[in-house]
Amino acid sequence: MGNVIKYAISAGDGRVCKGCRDVEGQEVKQYDYFETQWGNVLFPPFHTDCRCAVEYEEISEPEDNKQIHNKMILLQKKAISLLEILEGTQKV
Ligand SMILES: [Zn+2]
Repeated sequence: MGNVIKYAISAGDGRVCKGCRDVEGQEVKQYDYFETQWGNVLFPPFHTDCRCAVEYEEISEPEDNKQIHNKMILLQKKAISLLEILEGTQKV
């Protein structure tokens, strides 16, 4: 399973305060804090009447994917040699 990150989304209109505009775009890990002018906050609302929301996104771990990929290639090679043996195209 990959890591989960989260990011804040402001209401996106002209009434968004500067503090929330600063937080928007910050990407932190699922259980980490957003750095805001009101201190470190886990998720919105960051202040009274804040209209921000939080989105979660699962990101994959490249290292894991690479290992799985290599294993699949190995299995594929084994499967191909087995097929070749079965079909008699390869002398054992
Ligand atoms: Zn806000």
